[in-house]
Amino acid sequence: MRKKFIAGNWKMNTTALSGELLAAAIVKGLGGDTSVQVAVCPPFPYLFRVGQAIQGSPVALGAQNCYHEKSGAFTGEVSPDMLVDAGCQYVILGHSERRHKLRESDGFINKKTHAALAAGLRVILCVGETLEEREGNKTNQVLDEQVTAGLIGITSQTVRNMVIAYEPVWAIGTGRSATAAQAQAAHAFIRNRVAALCGPPAAAELVILYGGSATPQVAEELVRQPDIDGGLIGGASLKPDDFLSIVAMAKRAMALP
Ligand code: PEP
Repeated sequence: MRKKFIAGNWKMNTTALSGELLAAAIVKGLGGDTSVQVAVCPPFPYLFRVGQAIQGSPVALGAQNCYHEKSGAFTGEVSPDMLVDAGCQYVILGHSERRHKLRESDGFINKKTHAALAAGLRVILCVGETLEEREGNKTNQVLDEQVTAGLIGITSQTVRNMVIAYEPVWAIGTGRSATAAQAQAAHAFIRNRVAALCGPPAAAELVILYGGSATPQVAEELVRQPDIDGGLIGGASLKPDDFLSIVAMAKRAMALP
C-alpha cells in the first residue's frame, strides 16, 4: 500500500520567524506520528531555519526549485547539492507558476530532474493543464506530453525517487478545486502513462499528489480516491490547523478498507 504524502508548498510566503513558527506548529501538531509522510517546502532563505525547527521530527524539508548545474557562474541559481547540504530531501520541479510565469520548458525541467535525482533528492514533478486546455478537451494530451517529456531518461529504478503532483492550473490559488472525480481520472491517466514508460510495478508504487485549492473543506474526498496519494498544498499549508487537518484526513483515508 502506498503511504499518503502531504507536502506544503509555501511559495514566496512567510518571514524567517513566521516560517519557523509555522514549522514548529506542524511538528507539534503531528506529535511524532509517521503514518502520513509530511514535508514542508519553504523559500530558499529559510531552509536552514525551518530545517532546525523540524529537526528530529518526522517532517521532511523540501525546496521549491533548483538549477541543473552543480556549481559555477550561475548568478542567483541554487544547485541540488546545495539543497542537500541545507538538509532538503525533496525538491518541487515544474510547478505551473514556473512553467507559465517563468517560461520553463519540459526539457529544462527534465534536466533539473536528472540533476536533482543524481544529487540524492526526491523530485516532486508537477504537471497539469490550463483551463483553456481542459475546456478544449486536451487534458489527457497535455498530461501525456508533460509526463512523457518529464520522464525522458528516467528508468523504473530512478522513478522510485520521484513523486508526481497533478496540479490543474485552473485550480491553483483560485479557490476552485478539481472535483474528486476529475482528479481521480487525471491521476489514473498519469499512472497509466508512467506504467507505459517505466513499467507497471514502478507505476503501482508511484505516489501521485493532487494540488489546487486543496483545503480541509474538499480534501477528505480527494484523498480517498484510489489513485490520489495525498496533496501538494499551497495556501492551506500556511495555516497550521488547515494543513494538519488535511494530514489527519490522509491518515483516515489510509485506514479505509
Ligand atoms: C500549489 O501551488 O502547489 C498549490 C496547490 O496551491 P494552492 O493550494 O494554493 O492552490
